Amino acid sequence: MPGTLTTMQCPKCGQSVLASAPACQFCGTILNVAPRGRAAFMAPADDRKTWQEIVYYILAVVWVLWGAYYIAMGIGLIPSVWTESKFWSASKGGAFIGTIGGVYLFVGIGLLFEQGWIQFITKIMCWLGIGLTIINLPFVLFARHPLVPLLMSVVQMALYGLQLHVIAAVGDV
Ligand SMILES: [Zn+2]
Repeated sequence: MPGTLTTMQCPKCGQSVLASAPACQFCGTILNVAPRGRAAFMAPADDRKTWQEIVYYILAVVWVLWGAYYIAMGIGLIPSVWTESKFWSASKGGAFIGTIGGVYLFVGIGLLFEQGWIQFITKIMCWLGIGLTIINLPFVLFARHPLVPLLMSVVQMALYGLQLHVIAAVGDV
C-alpha cells in the first residue's frame, strides 16, 4: 500500500521512524494517538450525535406536526376559532392559519434536511417569537389569571431558545 512506508522524524529523539508507527521504536514516544483508518473516518460523525442533534430533529418534527395541525385547522378538519369566528369569515381565517401552517411545515421539512438557509429563517422566526412573547408579557401579567399564560410564555421562550441553541450546535449558520 503506498504511503504506509513513508518515514517521519521522531519529534523527541530525531530518529527516522515509520509515519504509520504508533510509537517511536527508538525512544517509545507515542506518535499516532489519533484513531486510524475506518475509526478515524467514523469518529467525527459519531461526535456529532450529541443531545443537541437529537433535540434538533425532535424540534424539526415538532415544526412539521405544528404546521400540519394549523393546516388541518385552516381547511376545517379541526374546528377552531380561525374558521368558526363571528368576526371574520371562515375562508379568511382558514387561509390565514393555513398559510402559517404551510410556513411551519416548510420550515420543519427544511430543518429535517439541514438546509442552511431554512435554519437561518428559523433563527429569525425564533428571535421574532421571543420578542413577541416579551412584548406580550405585560398583558399576560395583568390578565385575570396570569399563571397559566405566564407559564406558557416561559415555555415558549425556552423552546425558541432551545431551537436557537441546537441550530447553532448542529447547523452551519
Ligand atoms: Zn524517538
